Amino acid sequence: MKRIAIIGGGISGLSAAHALEEQRRQTGAALEYTLYESSSQLGGVLRTEQIDGCIVEAGPDSFITEKPWAADLCRNLGLGDQLIGSNDADRKTYILVRGRLIAMPDGLMFMVPTKILATGFSPLFSWKTKLRMGSELFHPPRAVEGDETVASFVERHYGAEMVDCLADPLLSGVYGGEAASLSVRAVLPRFAEMEQSHGSLGRAMLAARKKMSQAAKRPAPPLFTSLKNGMQHLAEAVVSRLSPASLVTNALVQAVQPEAGGWVVSAEMQSDHFDAVVLAVPTHSAARLLSICSPELAAELAGIPYSSSITVVLGFDREVRQSLPPGFGFLVPRSEGKQMLAATFVHNKFPYRAPEDRALLRCFFAGKSAESVWGLSDEQIVGIIRNELQQILGLRAAPLFARVYRWKSAMAQYGVGHLDRLDRIERLRQKLPGLALAGNGYRGIGVPDCVRSGRDAAKELTPIA
Ligand SMILES: Cc1cc2nc3c(=O)[nH]c(=O)nc-3n(C[C@H](O)[C@H](O)[C@H](O)COP(=O)(O)OP(=O)(O)OC[C@H]3O[C@@H](n4cnc5c(N)ncnc54)[C@H](O)[C@@H]3O)c2cc1C
Repeated sequence: MKRIAIIGGGISGLSAAHALEEQRRQTGAALEYTLYESSSQLGGVLRTEQIDGCIVEAGPDSFITEKPWAADLCRNLGLGDQLIGSNDADRKTYILVRGRLIAMPDGLMFMVPTKILATGFSPLFSWKTKLRMGSELFHPPRAVEGDETVASFVERHYGAEMVDCLADPLLSGVYGGEAASLSVRAVLPRFAEMEQSHGSLGRAMLAARKKMSQAAKRPAPPLFTSLKNGMQHLAEAVVSRLSPASLVTNALVQAVQPEAGGWVVSAEMQSDHFDAVVLAVPTHSAARLLSICSPELAAELAGIPYSSSITVVLGFDREVRQSLPPGFGFLVPRSEGKQMLAATFVHNKFPYRAPEDRALLRCFFAGKSAESVWGLSDEQIVGIIRNELQQILGLRAAPLFARVYRWKSAMAQYGVGHLDRLDRIERLRQKLPGLALAGNGYRGIGVPDCVRSGRDAAKELTPIA
């Protein structure tokens, strides 16, 4: 009987357990797993509450449709009919510019303009930036010379205004990090490839769109996918497939140590022997667990920074809903001097999130903005949000309910050189047979990437899977 320990009960660890369970059921493989989770609840940051008829997401609210692994897992779990797409017909995102909300022009793919007229007439950009967009089309292909920050990459193509008003706020929303420190090769690999092949990102994007429209006339799928009852439903569905005896909650693992061709896992004053172990925890936790058996690997893992984030969800009545602008919400560039980085009009973004007579707003702090308010009480944080919503939207009404969710060091930041660090981590890991790593610290922070990382870790430890 092969015994595998999984440390961490977020979606990465649950996906690893699910892959092992599937293998056991489908092939009759002689394997057994134990999943250790330090908190009382499985699912990690996937947490949903039902409040006043609304589905309130404390952590992720959806996943990007283009990456199939999370939706595939949902289908595998029988949740195919629970998948919902974002209301893309109403998609409109605003950027706060000098205190005013300005809609992002049609055809912007991340920050690359593909519709010249829409961008040309947009008040979002100065004439200088618009001229840069035009001249960008003539950039020659460029050989790859190491890594650089997203900010310097975007600035080379479109100038500093594009970094401040689009690239940085868009990345803050996804990574909780700053364009000035995130690695372009790790965070925007496709853009780095486009530069290499075409030089101009604009030309590369237009060529890709042309190819796509020639290949398929099907309507584009929604940009984001979620679950009718919220993201926690995914974690619950995985848990319901696993054997309850394999799941150990309230169990903080203190160390994992190779011994006698296997691994000893020490948690809560008890030790158990396994043949292999999956560390599906943030890399700062993995570093602590490995600090005795491989200080070098631990140091590399500890070198991946994480940022903290806070989501604040506010529910309002029908009147507020009617007064809010259409669209998915807005992003706040740092230069605007606000503390929140973004707000989502959840009632518009997805169906089934709020009754017709409710408005649901989800506001976001991350990185430095989260640190600056971390020590405040929930009431004070809600006060800051209400004050900023009043300034931005003219919203004075008191919310019907408010919730503050804090996520300490939960979002990995892929800094410059991240991919080289991953190569070093992989070389060191190879020296420790029976050890697999999964989670958001490696090759993708989103839910689909985490699902894939957990599944792949399980497969690696049980090669016939
Ligand atoms: C606020 C927020 C919003 C997000 N929004 C989106 C989004 O909209 N779309 C998207 O795709 N992604 C989003 N993400 C990212 C994505 O949700 C996460 O990267 C992903 O869910 C991480 O899953 P995980 O299992 O790797 O880690 P986690 O969910 O952090 O789980 C790790 C688990 O390990 C446990 N643990 C840690 N150390 C130990 C130990 N020593 N012993 C035992 N247990 C331990 C922890 O308690 C935790 O439960 C968001 C993240 C956050 C924080």
